[in-house]
Parts: sequence; structure tokens; C-alpha cells
Amino acid sequence: MIEDALQKVQARIEQARLRVGRTDKVTLVAVTKNHPVSAVEEVAQLGITNVGENRVQEAKEKMLTYRGEPLTWHLIGHLQTNKVRQAVSLFQLIHSVDSKKLLDEIDKVAAKNDKVQEILLQVNVAREASKTGMTVEEFPALRDYAKTLPHIKVRGLMCIAPFAENPETVRPVFRVAAALFEDMKQYFPAGQISELSMGMTHDFEVAIEEGATIVRVGTAIFGERVYY
Ligand SMILES: *Cc1c(COP(=O)(O)O)cnc(C)c1O
Repeated sequence: MIEDALQKVQARIEQARLRVGRTDKVTLVAVTKNHPVSAVEEVAQLGITNVGENRVQEAKEKMLTYRGEPLTWHLIGHLQTNKVRQAVSLFQLIHSVDSKKLLDEIDKVAAKNDKVQEILLQVNVAREASKTGMTVEEFPALRDYAKTLPHIKVRGLMCIAPFAENPETVRPVFRVAAALFEDMKQYFPAGQISELSMGMTHDFEVAIEEGATIVRVGTAIFGERVYY
């Protein structure tokens, strides 16, 4: 089941990439939140090396029981300051950094751990009140501030588009995010800004057409999440 679904998603990623003539790669982050560790193990056996979780505690429990090839763990959900200590020791890439307070805390904890934490800056392009992420107006100042922190390495930008029945509706949102991403490259050393994380089950193809380098896909691989 998961195997078929995963193959379909991978084929759709490939097709979207080719439709716009992209020659760079697109990383699939399999979003395993609300699915058991067995689901993580299943996709790992199928060759997935990047998994995404949105809660620190849930992710930690899975990491402790996971048996399989080493994985790159992505934190994609909102991060509270009091969870930063755990997040920094558990995740290779934190996608959801959206405030000065969070930047400061991550830098402080990473310094203590003798680590440089890789992060993405999350921008709420569509200004949805229900979503976290900095505004487009806040972005330049936080981008410049992040650059000054020695234990933080910004790798790019993350964006969540509003849900839309027709994903074409959110193409302009992805386009704005891609423009910010391209623009931010000039402020950092060459090659450092390489990740544009956007696109989920209902809109990942449009996101890829607009330049996503990371898509975060859960439902299309694992089916609907069950919330207890
Ligand atoms: C849950 C989640 C996803 C995956 O969503 P699907 O619609 O199941 O693909 C992607 N990104 C974030 C930030 C999420 O919280």
C-alpha cells in the first residue's frame, strides 16, 4: 500500500520537475506525524532518507524506537522556545523558524551543544492568521539577524500555502516565496541558500513547478492521519 503510494508520489515529483525543465533535484520529505514508527521503517526500507515530524515529543519517541538505516529528521511544525533544547539535539533541519526569540534560543542552545544548527526561515506569504511564520515585511530583518548568529546556518526558506481545492489558486503564493528565496541567496555565502521547502499533498506539483527543492508529503504516502 505505502509502496504503491510512494512510487506514485515519486513519479509525480519527477513529472512536475520535467514539465518545467528542471535539472536540479527535489527532495521528498515523508511526513510521518500521527503515523507509527512502523510507517517510518517502511518508507526507510523503500529508500526514503528524509522524514518530517511536526512535534518534538512525538518525533523523539519514534527516533528512540526506530530500527533502520540512519535518517535525516526534519522539524516542520511550529517550535516553542521551551522545546528548542530537545529540537536542536534531535533534528538536522528545522524548517519553522519565524522569530528573533527563536533564533536567539536556537543559537544559544546550539552553542552549548557545540553544534551549528541548520534552519529554514518560515514565511507566512499568504498572511494567514491561523498559521505561524514571519510576514514578508519582517523577513529581511530576520534574515540579516540570523546571519549574525554563529551557531545557526540558514539554508533557505519554508512556506505553507493556504489550502485550496484547486492548487493552481496558490501558485502566486509559491511564486512570491520563490522570489524571496532567490533574492536571499545574495546575502549569504555562495551555495549556502539551497533549500526552498514548499508543497504538501494537495499542492506539491505546483510548488515544484515554482521551484521547490523540498516537498513535505504525508497523506499522499501514508493515507489520512488518524487523530486520537
Ligand atoms: C502535516 C504537514 C505536512 C504534510 O501534509 P500532507 O497534506 O499530509 O501532505 C507538510 N508540512 C507541514 C508543515 C505539515 O504540518
